[in-house]
Amino acid sequence: MLRGETCIARTTRKCLLAAAFAVFGFVISVPSVHGQTPTRRPAAAPATKAPARPKLVVLLVVDQMRGDYVDKFRHQWTGGLRRLVDEGAWFHEAAYPYATTETCVGHATISTGSFPASHGMVSNSWLDRESRKMVACTADPNAKNSGYAGVTTKGGDSAWRMEVPSFAEELKFQTNGATRVVTFSLKARAAITMAGHKADAVTWADAGGWVTSSVYGPTPFVDQYAKAHPVKDDYGKTWTPTLPRNSYWYDEKSTGSVPPEGWDLTFPHSLRGKAGGDVPDPAFYEQWASSPFSDTYLTRFAETAVDTLGLGQGGGIDFLAISYSAVDYVGHAFGPRSWEIQDILVRLDGDLADLFAHLDKKVGRGNYVVALSSDHGVVPTPEDMQKTGADAGLFRLTEMQERMEKALEPFNFPKPAIAQIATGEVYFAPDVYERLKQNDAARCSRNFPRRASAKSPRDAKSDSSRGRQRLFSWPQW
Ligand SMILES: [Zn+2]
Repeated sequence: MLRGETCIARTTRKCLLAAAFAVFGFVISVPSVHGQTPTRRPAAAPATKAPARPKLVVLLVVDQMRGDYVDKFRHQWTGGLRRLVDEGAWFHEAAYPYATTETCVGHATISTGSFPASHGMVSNSWLDRESRKMVACTADPNAKNSGYAGVTTKGGDSAWRMEVPSFAEELKFQTNGATRVVTFSLKARAAITMAGHKADAVTWADAGGWVTSSVYGPTPFVDQYAKAHPVKDDYGKTWTPTLPRNSYWYDEKSTGSVPPEGWDLTFPHSLRGKAGGDVPDPAFYEQWASSPFSDTYLTRFAETAVDTLGLGQGGGIDFLAISYSAVDYVGHAFGPRSWEIQDILVRLDGDLADLFAHLDKKVGRGNYVVALSSDHGVVPTPEDMQKTGADAGLFRLTEMQERMEKALEPFNFPKPAIAQIATGEVYFAPDVYERLKQNDAARCSRNFPRRASAKSPRDAKSDSSRGRQRLFSWPQW
């Protein structure tokens, strides 16, 4: 379990808890992280003696799972998460040593063991200098996506932009192709980066169904499963609290939450779309992705892959990865200080118990290795931080861009000198940065806003800002 602080804006002289993730593993030793020796806990039920080589490597990534969730809530877990805590090696003190803690970046870091400067996945998307357009980290002009079970999809995705091999593909290379590489996620940028450039089945969600790319090719069993178990089968289900009411931390109605369309601010959350009609609409799929039902679906999907492909049941070493996206969507909707986050972790704990029981039975306890980590953390909503006394608020990128343009006016650059501000990055127009370096950079920096006169959430709505300095809520997804 890891926790780290990352300074994300030097001009604010503030640091945010932006990178927080957990690393667990069991059955075999896990190498140290940054020289750290993992905590080993006495196994509650000792595994059988591990073979020299595992038959199956299982990588689990829980999107946006903060490290402190383990500290806070593990006493309420009884299933798979609890088993990892009790029996696994547990890294308490690791952190991502870079600022852009986003999904694509984190998954690529986990899968390659290298950092963004090496693996090249520096953001979820970035401004392509040649086309002058934003490109997704997985966008591949030579790939074509295809949908399973009749789903219509568009575009093309692959690990084309990832500049180093993943652990999975290196394993496949070293076993002369015998290793089967199978990954699942709701997100392309997670499923693809965990797999790498070559894999046997890489599956993610799109357009209400499941898709893959021509780079990996379709897999018959995925098509069969998608046809037999359409996501819309979960239409009409309701997410209700799992634990007794007095087991939940924080307020029942989390401060600053923005739930998916069609949901109230508090439990129960019905998966009935925007209007509550009889037919799934786009809002239903957003609700589903933000609910424990999507985690359960991914778990069943992976279990079926183990059975159908015989993963971990041959003579080699296979690789199975699942990135669970629901915690991320729930964190964005309700914030980390919510009943929903606490509850979805309990539900995931149950799903992982099912997964490990399945692997125990089909692959054999002691024949597989599990590693669990997260790609990034999340900060509380600005409104919630204000409630607890933090100097927090919303950061308005358009205002920042206007101020930067004004600060650059003395240099007479063609406007706009700022090509784009997207997520956490500021992109100068071509040549601007080079000319700034040759000029009086100090003069420029004096003109740049050191603190944004951005508005607190309430002020922003009433447009009566007093120009407060703030921490800003940093979107991770
Ligand atoms: Zn993420």
